Amino acid sequence: MRMRRLGGSGLFVSELAFGAMTFGGTDGLWGQVGQLGQEEADAVVGAALDAGINLFDTANVYAHGRSEEILGQSLRNLGVPRDQVVIATKVGSAMGAGPNDRGASRRHILAQCRASLARLRLGHVDLYQIHAFDPATPMEETLEALDTLVRAGDVRYVGLSNWAAWQVMKAIGLTEARRLAPITSLQAYYSLVGRDVEREIVPLLASERVGLMVWSPLAGGYLTGKYSGADEGDGGRQTTLDFPPIDRVRGEPLIEVLRAVARKHGCLPAQIAIAWLLRQPAVSTVLIGAKRVEQLHANVRAAAIVLEEEDLAELDTASHL
Ligand code: NDP
Repeated sequence: MRMRRLGGSGLFVSELAFGAMTFGGTDGLWGQVGQLGQEEADAVVGAALDAGINLFDTANVYAHGRSEEILGQSLRNLGVPRDQVVIATKVGSAMGAGPNDRGASRRHILAQCRASLARLRLGHVDLYQIHAFDPATPMEETLEALDTLVRAGDVRYVGLSNWAAWQVMKAIGLTEARRLAPITSLQAYYSLVGRDVEREIVPLLASERVGLMVWSPLAGGYLTGKYSGADEGDGGRQTTLDFPPIDRVRGEPLIEVLRAVARKHGCLPAQIAIAWLLRQPAVSTVLIGAKRVEQLHANVRAAAIVLEEEDLAELDTASHL
């Protein structure tokens, strides 16, 4: 597994990272996507480590904290030395019904960081990310709270998630002007069926040396081809979650091209979709989701695929149709 610098920081992360959004059983908020219990999580975390993945991403809101608990327990069950892994989590989504149980206020950030560390049972997290922009909180307050955490040793690097380009740029300006902990990374949705980030986000991040952490690289599983009617193996199942939203009219011809490129390389459409992302500018790491060890094994093999110029051109044309 190759390592890449996370943006302009000195931190090296594996170019494929593991996303723990599926950990947590079916309890709590977002329970519908929290499907893996401890034993299953141990198996996929172990397989990810064996494959050379060092970056693990979770969030306080995933299964209402259970994802963090399970990830932390997996690291202990597997005897993983703390300095061998980069642990990322997020704050901002609603953790309760009250007005102060969500968002990016100083109070919520400081309280939730402590709660995340307790759930993970770690002394610090390597990357602490604001899950979504909070229009109700002054950006200065958010960035100063993150700086407090870095200075206190609870957090090593600061990241954002799902912020618009102007918001990221404003944050960069503020951290520089006020000498606050710099913005190291941004999480954003990016896939062959979701290329909106290329318009503003990608050029901005490349220019400012902020790392792009890609989420839902398979568009929630759609780019495996298994939700497409033409796939024999999975019988044309429909995804019920439909997250992120997918334009299926444009997606179907693209799936056909993905299949053709995959046949040429003797691999799976999902692997081509991930390999394509690894060739795009500003991408530091691609967060792969896997509910089973076999999926994990399949997805990590994407890092070994060398796409030719002709493949890239075909995928580019098909994804812009
Ligand atoms: P993907 O788009 O890769 O979708 C993963 C899902 O696709 C799996 O759960 C599985 O679901 C299916 N799948 C994956 N690999 C295969 C395979 N080889 N063969 C067949 N099916 C496969 O990523 P996610 O949407 O799960 O996102 C990845 C990570 O990104 C998350 O864990 C999280 O860390 C992060 N994320 C961050 C967000 C943010 O707002 N910052 C938002 C969303 C995700 P199934 O078996 O049910 O089909």
